[in-house]
Amino acid sequence: MARYTGAVCRLCRRDGTKLFLKGAKCFSEKCPVEKRNFPPGQHGQSKKQKKVVGYGLQLREKQKAKRIYFTLETQFRAYYEKASRKTGVTGDLLLQQLETRLDNVAFRIGFALSRRQARQVVRHGHVLVNGKKVNIPSYQVKVGDEISIREGSKTLPAFEEAKNFAATQNSVQWIDINRDALSGKILSLPKREDINLPVNEQLIVELYSK
Ligand code: SF4
Repeated sequence: MARYTGAVCRLCRRDGTKLFLKGAKCFSEKCPVEKRNFPPGQHGQSKKQKKVVGYGLQLREKQKAKRIYFTLETQFRAYYEKASRKTGVTGDLLLQQLETRLDNVAFRIGFALSRRQARQVVRHGHVLVNGKKVNIPSYQVKVGDEISIREGSKTLPAFEEAKNFAATQNSVQWIDINRDALSGKILSLPKREDINLPVNEQLIVELYSK
């Protein structure tokens, strides 16, 4: 299945949840979920929102997580398979892998206004891991890794804008972030309580373990 590249706000409105796909707009009153909390489309307002249960609910949670982290089904399933083979709570381990993707870490440190934009920042070769260029968005960071922006890219206006936006966001406990230097060091792997996203990972585990 191809990656969705349309108007991303429609995805949030369809789910009736903020998926935080657009950076600063998501935190402002311009967010369509704040303004019009009904599904997109011509008949969205007149349609009664059906209560989603069972399989539909499980599927919706999976779609939501995939959209937030901008991953495709094959890769998402691979994260689940890996998590299910490890010792620990599968749902937590699934989210941990998503959260430690380099594009997400780049977003968390403040290199971009959204995960989608962070993905491009990584792709375009602006991001270094331990001083070496890594342009693979799904690259998994490890404890002790130092993530930074390439010297020649630091003065790009986009990073200044991202830095100002990041300053309005809460820091995360598991990364030692130096916003002025545009860098961060991974202190520990993220725990569930560190991941403040509206996803019920248990429903995703139920879906895949059928
Ligand atoms: Fe659009 Fe962000 Fe609001 Fe979602 S949370 S509807 S992406 S502005």
